[in-house]
Amino acid sequence: MPVDGFGNGSNSRQDRHGGFAPPKVRRSASGRIPQWAIDEAFGKVETPSPWRGTESSHSRRNKFRSRTRRQSLRPKRSVQLRTVLGIALVVCLYFTPSLFDRVVLPAAAPYLPGAKMPPPGYEASAAPLGTPPASTGSSAFVLQESPKEGQRLVAYDPCRPVHYVVRPDNALPGGDVLLREAVEAVSQASGLQFVYDGPTTEAPSDDRSAFQPDRYGKRWAPVLIAWSTPAETPGLAGNVAGLGGSSYAQTAGQPLVLEAGQVRLDAPDLSGIIASRPDGAAEVRAIIMHELGHVLGLDHVNDPTQLMYAENMGVRDFAAGDRAGLALLGSGPCVPQL
Ligand SMILES: [Zn+2]
Repeated sequence: MPVDGFGNGSNSRQDRHGGFAPPKVRRSASGRIPQWAIDEAFGKVETPSPWRGTESSHSRRNKFRSRTRRQSLRPKRSVQLRTVLGIALVVCLYFTPSLFDRVVLPAAAPYLPGAKMPPPGYEASAAPLGTPPASTGSSAFVLQESPKEGQRLVAYDPCRPVHYVVRPDNALPGGDVLLREAVEAVSQASGLQFVYDGPTTEAPSDDRSAFQPDRYGKRWAPVLIAWSTPAETPGLAGNVAGLGGSSYAQTAGQPLVLEAGQVRLDAPDLSGIIASRPDGAAEVRAIIMHELGHVLGLDHVNDPTQLMYAENMGVRDFAAGDRAGLALLGSGPCVPQL
């Protein structure tokens, strides 16, 4: 039985990073918000921080959740309070503290200095950019576990393109063609529109930031596909050929969406597969498709005829269950508020 493909139980890591909840505001017992609490709230940002998830029989997941880190931010209090607008705002918030939590902070957070998330609505269209194919009707797929109660389907926003970049170091000869074909396959199966933004020098990381304005501008970071090595990515040690997953993001009152995915390929392993088997290139392409399936939100399924089975059993293309899952993941909610 082939064992190189996707490894045997520790190969799939859904790298998720923390969402971005609006800052919490401390109140007095009356429910009113003192100025110091407003200052404190505006000075807070969310930053992802790792924690370990549980292990299942087929996948080991590292999930990430938010923790709060304080940053100093000096409000120009005298200027604010002298303006009519400022007074009106304070009066309004004084009587409607929930409005402050629900509307003002989420709207203002992306624009504050040192913001940890982009301004909302970048490239958001009014309707999905593509149409997922009709479901095959198969139930042989497993969605990644949603961290949000009441939301089973966590997916990329279909109203925006899914940008991706490639870190070319260690790339296999002809690897760019296999990557392009694998991306095209997941795009067709999901209806999501992918856009290649070119090469990047960004190294893959367990703690990849979902928002890197200095490198990628004020938008969510694109999906990073990296030809890596076990030396750079210890999770690729042994017969693990690849790792794939996405971060998730959220703004108040809106569904979670996936952002800033990452695929890390074991270049030495994949090079060996191509060199040693007549259909090695097709197997490597299948491995990339499997990892992109994780990026879009699929988990392993306990069915060896599906490409999303934890090990590569000779499957070279998405099967009915994989396709049903990807079609579903291509029909997630559009969230222009993010
Ligand atoms: Zn996997």
